[in-house]
Amino acid sequence: MSYDSGNIFARILRGEVPCNRVYEDDHVLAFHDVNPARPVHVLVIPKGAYRSVNEMAADGKDVEIAALFRAIEKVAALTKVRDSGYRVVSNVGANGHQEVPHLHFHILGGGPVGPMVKRD
Ligand code: 5GP
Repeated sequence: MSYDSGNIFARILRGEVPCNRVYEDDHVLAFHDVNPARPVHVLVIPKGAYRSVNEMAADGKDVEIAALFRAIEKVAALTKVRDSGYRVVSNVGANGHQEVPHLHFHILGGGPVGPMVKRD
């Protein structure tokens, strides 16, 4: 399978679909999740066409990977959860329950986010 350039985050990156932007630089865009699970719920995505952590680790340039990692901390600061604490989540593939096939990190905070994953 290859990258689907019709996915919703690709459309946001092309400006075809609006987003509520929190942060942007040459390599990264961050915007509020349309269906927030916590008071702060921001998605941090690379501008490059990578479906998941797997692909970016394999094919991403170091400068892109560094920018993404640094953007997570910048978004945490901008949304005022940096020092109170927050969670970073990236779902990968079918078992990871990834819905949008463009790499994204969820930044969740603004209050206790609860146990990491409910045990079955
Ligand atoms: P995943 O399950 O792939 O890790 O998470 C996808 C996330 O994207 C979900 O939290 C969902 O609410 C969010 N999302 C889906 N479509 C849109 C959209 O059009 N705009 C924004 N801002 N978020 C979206």
